[in-house]
Formats: sequence, structure tokens, C-alpha cells
Amino acid sequence: MRAVRIGSLVASQAQRACIDTAANKATKPDSSPVTVGDFAVQACVSHILSQSYPHIKLLAEEDDENFRRLPADTQLEIVHRVNEALPELKADVAKVAELIGRGSFGKTTGDVPPCFVLDPIDGTKGFLRGEQYAVCLGFLEENGTASIGVLGCPNMPSSFFSTEGEKESAKGFLFEARLGAGTRMRKLFLDDASDADPILHEWTKSSSSILPPSQLRFAESFEKSHTAGRLNELLFKAFDVDERTILRIDSQVKFAAVARGDVQVYFRFTGFDICTWDVLPGYVVITEAGGRVTDKRGRPITLNAGRTIRGTSVITTGPGLAHVHDRILSLIPKDEA
Ligand code: AMP
Ligand code: MG
Repeated sequence: MRAVRIGSLVASQAQRACIDTAANKATKPDSSPVTVGDFAVQACVSHILSQSYPHIKLLAEEDDENFRRLPADTQLEIVHRVNEALPELKADVAKVAELIGRGSFGKTTGDVPPCFVLDPIDGTKGFLRGEQYAVCLGFLEENGTASIGVLGCPNMPSSFFSTEGEKESAKGFLFEARLGAGTRMRKLFLDDASDADPILHEWTKSSSSILPPSQLRFAESFEKSHTAGRLNELLFKAFDVDERTILRIDSQVKFAAVARGDVQVYFRFTGFDICTWDVLPGYVVITEAGGRVTDKRGRPITLNAGRTIRGTSVITTGPGLAHVHDRILSLIPKDEA
């Protein structure tokens, strides 16, 4: 939680600095965006984890080779952000590269869990638009079980559907879940003046929220290219979803919205293997809150296969909605499944 909170602070400061400027945005060789924020958050979280758990490896999205290829002034901006958050570290470019490089679990064969799983900024496109993104951290046990999920959601409102008049300062929630111990929501940024970290809401595996189908709300990716429109449209039609009620946001904040009950259903169908860091933390948050997560055939998600889940679909439903999950699976055309 401390690592995610510090990472979230670094990210939110970087987001404020980069909105409306292209200055701190670079492009990875696969042409996806990456920002000063992604590298700075990965370096900070990597450092904090290495202090407490020096022997546990890290499976993280960003790559030290990409960091080394950045222009010198961008590298220095990243080092500056790391040192602002962790002044005792007195990091230089080489140290930051080393910390980022610790996230290489799964790039060589023979890497086996336990490991931490990190997406330093999930939803980078939302981050650049000034919208939703999340700092996502999880843990994979030696036996291949995902056992911890922590989502830092700096721009998440207290509800996605009734926030009229809500103050900016009310935004920002942290979701933390442990295998067998449920999911809790806390304030992400704590008041410096007190050490209190109250649980704002708690869910367990037996949480329930039975809703009639007409009251179900759905979420999907903001970016159309991240999800196959064909299946989404088919399912929205089958559930008679009012287009205006679909929550279209970036990142695993969608998983947090399912766990909290802002929405009841989120599915993602892609043409590419989904990365482990894009699912594992949110998976634990939803399942520990009593929700369900499968692929489009109804099979469990493979979270211990390395850097991807070796699968192209994720379907999630909230607490007490197993019947809705089953209906979704039954609606997937046989040739798709
Ligand atoms: P979302 O914000 O839910 O649309 O998901 C954003 C995540 O989708 C990013 O963090 C990326 O890791 C992932 N993503 C988007 N396009 C691709 C792709 N072509 N291959 C692998 N992952 C992708
Ligand atoms: Mg991501």
C-alpha cells in the first residue's frame, strides 16, 4: 500500500505537469505511449519493494532499455521526480535505470514465481488526457496463485454516477485485497496531519448485490482499439443496454468500479494477448470482493504464465452476479469462444 501510494503521488504530480503538453511523452518501439510518469513510478515502487523484499523479483511493464534510449533531459526529469518522492535515495540516471530494470521478470525463460506484478501507470492514454488511470500492484505466490491486489486510483470519484458538486479533493481511492481476506477501499492520499487510514468500505467473498437485469451497468475501455467492438455490441444489445449509461474509462479503475458496485459488468475482448500486469491486481480486487473473473469460455484466467495471460479475453461481474456472468458466457457465439 505504501508503494502504491507513493507511486500514485508521483503519477498525479506528473499528470498535472504533462496535461496539454507533449513534453514528457515518448513513444515505445511498439508505438504505444510512455511518459515520464511511467518510468518514475516504476523506479519508485521498485525501490520500495526492494527495500523490504530484496529477494522477490518484479514483473513490471516498463523496460530499462527504453529508459536508456530517452533524451538526456527526459531521463533527468525522471530522476528528478524519483528524488522528489524518495529524497533519501539520491538517485542518478544509472540508479533509476537499475531500478526500472528490476522489473524484467519473465523476459528470460526459467523465471518462476514468487514475484510482484506492477503496472506503474495503467491507462497511459487516459493519464495523458487528464482522465482515469491506476497504479496497479499485485503478488504472485510461489505456487502460482495471485494473492494480493492493490489499485491506486488518483482520479476516481466517490461514485461514477452521482458526483454532482463533488470536490476535487474527494477524489482518489485505494483498493487493496488479499487472498481469503476480502477487499477494502481506503482514501488514496492520506492527510499528513494524522496517521489514520480508515477503511471506507469492505467487501468479502460473500458480498451480494442482486440487481434486476434492467439495472445492470456496464463498463468498457475508453479506447475502442483496446476491445473488439463486435462482441461488446452484441452483448450490449442482448442486455438492452442504454448506450448513454456505459462507463467508458481507461485502466483497471474499471475493475475497482466493478468491485465497488458503480458498475456490475466489464468485459474486454482483444486481438492480442493481454498483459499480466493489466489484469492480476484487478483480478484479486474483484474476486475477493465476491465478483467473478473468467475468459470468454468461462475458464479461469491464467495469471502465472509470465508477462502475458496467454489469452485475449476477460469477463468480470460484481458480487452476487454469477447468473449474469453465466448469461454473458451463453451469449458468446460458439465460433468466437
Ligand atoms: P484500457 O485502459 O482498459 O483500455 O487498457 C489499457 C491497457 O491495454 C494498456 O495498459 C496496455 O497495456 C493494453 N493494451 C492496449 N493495446 C494493446 C496491445 N495492442 N497489446 C497489448 N496490450 C495492449
Ligand atoms: Mg497497462
